[in-house]
Amino acid sequence: MESRGERSEGIYDVAVIGGGVVGCAVARRFTLEGARVVLLEKAHDILAGASKGNSAILHTGFDAPEGSLELACMQAGYAEYRAIHESLNLPLLATGAIVAAWSEHDEAELDAIVARAHANGVDNVRRIDRAEVLAHEAQLNPAVRGGVLVPDEHVIDPWSAPLAYLTQAMANGAEVRRDCEVTSGAFDGLAWQLDTSRGRIAAAQVINCAGLYGDLVEQSLLGEAHMQIRPRKGQFVVFDKAAAALVDHILLPVPQPRTKGVVVTRTAYGNLLVGPTAEEQDDREHARVDRDTLEALIAAGAERLPALADMPVTAVYAGLRPATEDKEYRIRHEPARHWLTLGGVRSTGLTAALGIAAHAYALYREHVEHSPLASPVVPAVPNIAEHRPRDWQTAGYGEIVCHCELVTRREIEAALASPLPPGDIGGLKRRTRACMGRCQGFYCGAHVAQIAGDALATPLSTGAAHDH
Ligand SMILES: Cc1cc2nc3c(=O)[nH]c(=O)nc-3n(C[C@H](O)[C@H](O)[C@H](O)COP(=O)(O)OP(=O)(O)OC[C@H]3O[C@@H](n4cnc5c(N)ncnc54)[C@H](O)[C@@H]3O)c2cc1C
Repeated sequence: MESRGERSEGIYDVAVIGGGVVGCAVARRFTLEGARVVLLEKAHDILAGASKGNSAILHTGFDAPEGSLELACMQAGYAEYRAIHESLNLPLLATGAIVAAWSEHDEAELDAIVARAHANGVDNVRRIDRAEVLAHEAQLNPAVRGGVLVPDEHVIDPWSAPLAYLTQAMANGAEVRRDCEVTSGAFDGLAWQLDTSRGRIAAAQVINCAGLYGDLVEQSLLGEAHMQIRPRKGQFVVFDKAAAALVDHILLPVPQPRTKGVVVTRTAYGNLLVGPTAEEQDDREHARVDRDTLEALIAAGAERLPALADMPVTAVYAGLRPATEDKEYRIRHEPARHWLTLGGVRSTGLTAALGIAAHAYALYREHVEHSPLASPVVPAVPNIAEHRPRDWQTAGYGEIVCHCELVTRREIEAALASPLPPGDIGGLKRRTRACMGRCQGFYCGAHVAQIAGDALATPLSTGAAHDH
């Protein structure tokens, strides 16, 4: 067992490549365990990749592959999120979920879904008949044939969670470098010398959390990739706040082998979401939406919830899942080369991130020893979820800047002055919800730009304000 904590100044114990939800959770876990951590992110801000556009469901793992690492990490991540969310001020919207059957074929699958859930340890999942489905969800199309109730599925805030993980890591000593792309590296038997767009960084251990670029990072640093990332796009339609009153539970379809299918769910920000699709593409960077698919999503939503047909759409977006040729997460641990890849975290990474981080630390601890922090700092992040008190509901906020989302000047200024201030307009939106409502920044964009001044790496100009 090495005690790498005693190494010389200037060498980090761990360099985490990538500031998605997995990298942020890993930075937190390793810092709390006593490692000296640096997180390197190539974009202006964290959450530049897969983690910025997901469905935000905290999954129980009821339908995950039995015995898989994905299931173990999801359930560990779920449990840890529930254990820490209050202390970090993270929301938990207790919706529960209903897997709804719309056809004879769907209905025939319901018992197997319950059996899988029980095998996965989610014991309170049960089959419900049509009457009970409609008793839970009165606005649902009466054509529904029955369903499966999953009481413990939750909706969370997909942006504040990773921000809280990384903020806690930083409060306990981790360093973060943004605009810092890792381009190559060499291992000398003791440590890695990483070449980045901001110079050379030395670290004893590398943890590759590069998401959609995980295979390319392996290729350039190890000389070979053990997986091939195949981006899988998911498009979404976000309906107006009024639509959120139409449904309580997360409405899940009977899952298909390749995708969980189109979900209808409330969001932590008070909207209603319909999506995602599952579309293979080569482009790792751009997640474009297209009219036909969005119209099909709106139609699919209205088929399930007829009142949705008259609801205005607030926004549309798409995310890219870092899928690979396998369904399972792609973990590559090479203790001899002080290397760990946490890759292929396809469609459950928001839930699983804390569990993946704990799993990563367990692998690392087999070879390296640190002393966990005795009294770690636990900083609370600002609340931006709709079901909990917002800043505008407390005295002294001064001025509401974004009227659609009720974002105050005080919130924007606090985000800009925070330990990890937004690096670009997307980051400012993800910290405050400014410019994210019905007008998409049309009315408040200029005011937000004036408050932000030159604090953001990119100017607040047309186009950037529509980045999700
Ligand atoms: C449509 C969709 C719906 C989803 N729904 C859910 C859900 O409801 N619940 C759930 O739990 N999960 C969900 N997910 C899954 C979840 O969003 C992903 O599993 C997760 O975001 C993967 O995170 P990551 O940190 O591995 O990758 P990423 O978020 O892609 O992070 C990787 C980071 O590495 C950076 N990077 C890349 N290369 C380099 C380099 N060379 N140097 C420095 N930095 C680099 C990137 O800029 C990026 O910020 C969904 C995903 C999608 C797309």
